[in-house]
Amino acid sequence: MEEKNTKNNTLISLKNLSKSYYKGSKEIKVLNNINLDFEPGKFYLIVGHSGSGKSTLLKIMGLIDKPTNGEIFINNNNVNNLSDRKLAKFRNNEIGFVFQDYFLDKLLTAYENVTVPMIINKEYKKRKIVKKRALELLDFVGLKDRIKHFPKELSGGEEQRVAIARALANDPSIILADEPTGNLDVESEKFIFEKLKEMSKNGKCIIMVSHSKDAINYADKVLEVKDGVIL
Ligand code: ADP
Ligand code: MG
Repeated sequence: MEEKNTKNNTLISLKNLSKSYYKGSKEIKVLNNINLDFEPGKFYLIVGHSGSGKSTLLKIMGLIDKPTNGEIFINNNNVNNLSDRKLAKFRNNEIGFVFQDYFLDKLLTAYENVTVPMIINKEYKKRKIVKKRALELLDFVGLKDRIKHFPKELSGGEEQRVAIARALANDPSIILADEPTGNLDVESEKFIFEKLKEMSKNGKCIIMVSHSKDAINYADKVLEVKDGVIL
């Protein structure tokens, strides 16, 4: 009876997942037959050498890239067969991304950046809801007094906090963070790690790639990518 991807507390399930890149006729094998389950309410830390495939794994889980082989289940949905349109919607509603370079829209204020994912989501489209939520989220990351600042008028740590608020906009169940503190000072890093931890305690599944030696203090589980497999 025990079928893994139907277990109640499994949020993401990777089944026999492999990924190769092709450069001309050359195959670069990055991930090799990975089987992994992720639960809600947990903070996962992914470590591994540069080039080991951490970002590749995150991009596949984030439905930005496709595996060469294998399947991904999210909330028991097999997402491999979704059309591009459905995939985009699924991604916008269920997954929040945080990148090393923040990736904010430079032409929008902190507040506007946070509203973007909601504006393209039917559930939150109503102006009043969007406004209320964006302000709450900016407050959550301690930026109540920076809402009208443009990215260039924010510190790196503040930009990343906006990115976290934006990642939370549609209340996704999964947050993927790829070296979110790679460009930040120790103090900003601590703030970001603590926020991510708080989010996991609130039920989100946090999956973070990090090289920081402090990251391990926040993680519930550490996964190492090595030679295409997870240790
Ligand atoms: P990490 O995040 O662990 O540093 P990546 O997942 O970014 O590693 O990359 C894993 C390997 O795949 C690297 O050897 C990289 O050169 C290669 N790679 C990544 N993206 C591509 C691509 N689009 N085309 C070809 N090779 C790629
Ligand atoms: Mg990487």
